Amino acid sequence: MNKREGVLYILSGPSGVGKGTVCTQLRKQLLNLKYSVSATTRAPRAGETDGVNYFFKSKDKFEKMIQNNEFLEWANYVGNYYGTPYSYVQEQLKEGHDVILEIEVQGAMQVRERIGKDGVFIFLVPPNVAELKRRILERASETDESMNQRLKVMEKEMKLIQHYDYCVVNDDLLYACQQIEAIITAESCRVERN
Ligand code: 5GP
Repeated sequence: MNKREGVLYILSGPSGVGKGTVCTQLRKQLLNLKYSVSATTRAPRAGETDGVNYFFKSKDKFEKMIQNNEFLEWANYVGNYYGTPYSYVQEQLKEGHDVILEIEVQGAMQVRERIGKDGVFIFLVPPNVAELKRRILERASETDESMNQRLKVMEKEMKLIQHYDYCVVNDDLLYACQQIEAIITAESCRVERN
């Protein structure tokens, strides 16, 4: 039997829904999963490290990377670029490792178009909009303008749920992670991927 290629998981959903927190928790639980580090032009937040949270790039450098087709997907989200470097993802999948991307919805839709059924798309949703607002405000790094923009984007994003394979409500962090773990276990037992 040929060596099995890894599975690409795409964890997406509105900003503030807790994708980052869920991923941090999954890192503790699922040690074999590989986590793709994105590139971005946004400024680092307090406590963020280059190469760990993101690869922080200038706008010029990011645009050069776009021209060189270095991204699996990229998006301009609320005034900054974000993108997934493709080479890391390809290498890991070829080696048989499962990879997870934590990305916003426009990027997830690009990946869906590019790889179709070869990825497992998980939509993380908040229990309700009021809770989402509270989480974004709690971050305190957002200006009113940026928060309003993020909420507007969120309304549009919620309509794209039909393009996903699974939907997980992030009400209780550990329960949401358990559900994602269950999805990953089920996918690893799948007989045929198409
Ligand atoms: P933040 O600025 O809060 O770190 O991220 C803003 C949004 O960009 C979040 O929804 C996050 O998931 C998303 N994001 C992070 N990395 C990428 C990426 O590589 N591609 C895309 N399309 N979105 C990303």
